Amino acid sequence: LRANFSVIQKETGFVNGLITVLHDITEQEKIEEERREFVANVSHELRTPLTTMRSYLEALAEGAWKDEAIAPSFLNVTQNETERMIRLVNDLLQLSKMDSRDYKLKSGWVNFNDFFNHLIDRLEMSKKETITFKRYIPKESFFVDIDEDKITQVLYNIISNATKYSPEGGQITFRVKDEEKSIIISISDEGVGIPKSNLEKIFERFYRVDKARSRNLGGTGLGLAIAKEMIVAHGGKIWAKSVEGKGTTIYFTLPYELEQEDDWS
Ligand code: ADP
Repeated sequence: LRANFSVIQKETGFVNGLITVLHDITEQEKIEEERREFVANVSHELRTPLTTMRSYLEALAEGAWKDEAIAPSFLNVTQNETERMIRLVNDLLQLSKMDSRDYKLKSGWVNFNDFFNHLIDRLEMSKKETITFKRYIPKESFFVDIDEDKITQVLYNIISNATKYSPEGGQITFRVKDEEKSIIISISDEGVGIPKSNLEKIFERFYRVDKARSRNLGGTGLGLAIAKEMIVAHGGKIWAKSVEGKGTTIYFTLPYELEQEDDWS
């Protein structure tokens, strides 16, 4: 809170009043501070791959290109860094679209369990062989009013984390539970887990438990922040539970209707 004082003084010199204007600057300053932090983070996130690429390209230009033993791996590094930068810029564009005032969802009624099963089927075909998928998805039809592309991205972000952090032979479990007016969707893995004190922070932009590990795995630190904004835009909630060394479960809710809306009534 900031206070501005104006003294009301008569020509005679007597002070006969004091006007105090109180501004609630805390909220505004917080937004400003967050914006500064965000720009600093973006700059840092872009500088890291660029400086890595510069040093590898310099080494190649200085003669490493002639060395068949190392040139391919140096080029591979620059390629991976480029891919990660493209992902980062795409994620940033996605967030900036969601931040804009006229952001709208392209929603439609979808039978969630059919939609979820199809998505898992597609991922099951391209997953690592050592990881197994297990589903506990009821046969009932839950109709949700969702933007399919957005919820696909939410699920993709969560499942790709589960895959990235899973050990060899790990299981990823998909569940859908009825919670009266909402369904709870959960995705569990048997990976490294997340320390309790960091559980809420993982939904913040650029927050990572282990920066170096996330970068090595090609992460941008924005996947869960995007997922959270999308779920909130759908009227749902998202949270995580985790036991270090045992695994992580990400939960989110979506409001549903048991019967599809009857347009003829
Ligand atoms: P990233 O691109 O780094 O994966 P995310 O926003 O998707 O960014 O996730 C933020 C951080 O949360 C990750 O860097 C990681 O530390 C942690 N995290 C997310 N999902 C999992 C998981 N399934 N197991 C362990 N840690 C996870």
